Formats: sequence, C-alpha cells, structure tokens
Amino acid sequence: MTNSCNIIDGKKIAQDVLSSLKRQISDMAAKPVLAVMSVGDDEASRIYVRNKEKAAADIGMECRLLHFGNTVTEKELLEVIGALNEDENVNGIIIQQPLPCHLNTACLVEAVRACKDVDGFGPVNLGLLQVNSPEAVIAATPKGVLRLIKSTQVKLAGKHAVIIGRSNIVGKPLASLLLNQDCTITVAHSKTVGLPALVRQADIIVAACGCAKLVKSDWVKDGAVLVDVGINRGSDGRLCGDIDFEALAGRNVRITPVPGGVGPMTVAMLLENTWQAYKKQKNIL
Ligand code: NDP
Repeated sequence: MTNSCNIIDGKKIAQDVLSSLKRQISDMAAKPVLAVMSVGDDEASRIYVRNKEKAAADIGMECRLLHFGNTVTEKELLEVIGALNEDENVNGIIIQQPLPCHLNTACLVEAVRACKDVDGFGPVNLGLLQVNSPEAVIAATPKGVLRLIKSTQVKLAGKHAVIIGRSNIVGKPLASLLLNQDCTITVAHSKTVGLPALVRQADIIVAACGCAKLVKSDWVKDGAVLVDVGINRGSDGRLCGDIDFEALAGRNVRITPVPGGVGPMTVAMLLENTWQAYKKQKNIL
C-alpha cells in the first residue's frame, strides 16, 4: 500500500525550481543560451535532448541544438567547442552522452571552458567540488539528489549515506557532495561484498546502479531516506528504478518514485546551472 505522505515528489520540487527560474529570466533583456551538442542517432539521447529543449523553452531560455552525424571527427567537434567557448552569447555548453566510440569523451568534455561547463563533468569543476569550493558547478543529477534529500528536512551532519554506484557522473560526485554536508559515506559498486548488510546501516540510501528493483524492503531500516536514480525497464515492461518502490512505499521511510523523482530534478538542475553561469558571466549578483 502506498502512503502518499512519504513520497518525495521530485516532479513538484523541479516545477518549483523551474517557475522560479522563469520569473528571474523574464526580467532579463537577453535570454540565457544553452548549447547542446549531440552526435549520432541514439534514441534515448534524442529523447533527453528534446526534454531539455522543451524545459528550456518553457522558462524562456534558448536551447541551441548542434547535431552532428556519426562520421564527425574529434577535431571538428573541438573546433565547434572552441567557437562556443568564445561566443559571448552562449552561457552553457553540454555534450550529450554517450558519444560514438571513435570520439574521446573525456578530451571533448575537458575542452569546454569551466565557467560554461554546466554539466559539471569537466576536471576543473570536479576538482572544485572535491575541495568544497562555492565556485564548483555541480553535476545536475547529484545536485538534484541532494536537493531531494534536503526537501525532507533531514539533518545531514553525521548521517550515514550509502551510495550504490560509483560512476563519474552520479556516484562519485554525489559522494563528495554528501561528504561536504558532513555525512559519513559508503560507496558500493559491483564488486562490493555484503551489500544488504551495508544498506541496513544507512540513514540515507541513493541507488544509482541501473539494476531494476535491486534494493529490497528488508535491506532498509525504518526512518531511512531513499533516492532512486535508476531508470530501468522492469520484467513487466514498465519503467522502474533500482529500489523496490512498491514494497517500500507503505513503510516508515521517505522515498522518491520512478518516474517523477530524480529525472525531472536533473533537467531543472541543468537549467539552474545555466542560469547561474549566465549571471556569473554578466556579473549579476
Ligand atoms: P553506470 O553504468 O555508469 O554505473 C553503474 C554503477 O553501478 C557502477 O559503479 C557499477 O559498479 C554499479 N553497479 C552495477 N551493478 C551493481 C550491483 N549489482 N551492485 C552494486 N553496484 C552495482 O551508470 P550511471 O551512473 O550512468 O547510471 C546509473 C543509473 O542511473 C542508470 O539506470 C541510469 O539510467 C540512471 N541515470 C538516471 C539519471 C536521471 O536523471 N534520472 C541520470 C543519470 C543516470 P562498477 O563500477 O563496479 O561497474
């Protein structure tokens, strides 16, 4: 049975962020501009890009799409990134991943100037996050996860957070982010031994491993806060996360649904990062 009071409503929280951005942007003479570079014909990427474009348009932000065929070379893309870095009218640049394997993703991401790296994936922003600098641009998904956890009013200092997944775009930056909030962190991965026992100790659980319904109800202690980053197709063909939501939603926990949890927050945080980049570049306090 679902208890609607314990659901963390990512859709609503994201909508509030977007409404606030829309109000602030409407006061500006020039729109913020986000450049989105994509390569090839990956179906999921096309959907993600369309979602970003639509959300940007809804809040009065311009999304400039630069789409390249599968045969584009790294040199050609580096030239485009160089031009976007220099273009004063472009405030944020993202490179939609995954890229075809003939392209070196790290090298392309590194070429984006740090102040326009609104995905926060480049080495400068990752380093700034490590040292807890307020100048860091925080990657959208971890930033959204933290915002969702904070929406529960849980006091973070001293809490034990277990993060399942150590990817460069979710698990690792999230570990730094929660460490900066004085949590004690365990990062689990595919070689971790005894995952259920580790998760049972957690006050905060973030699942970001891409394994449908991996986290079971009997792995979770009462009062825990659970954030589900995973997007999977369950055996019934429906979208589901990495946590067994149905089994947990009636318990004394706080939990995000899939869909309607982290997904909408990721888009909202990307646009918030672009707005913050715009303000910084234009010296708006
Ligand atoms: P990756 O595939 O890059 O990383 C998955 C991580 O999970 C790896 O560290 C892997 O370990 C670990 N892992 C895999 N299986 C297990 C297991 N059985 N037990 C413990 N750890 C395991 O994925 P991403 O970080 O890119 O994404 C994770 C999920 O989140 C995916 O479902 C993705 O679709 C979703 N996602 C959702 C977003 C959103 O906006 N909602 C944004 C980004 C991602 P190892 O390192 O050892 O391989």
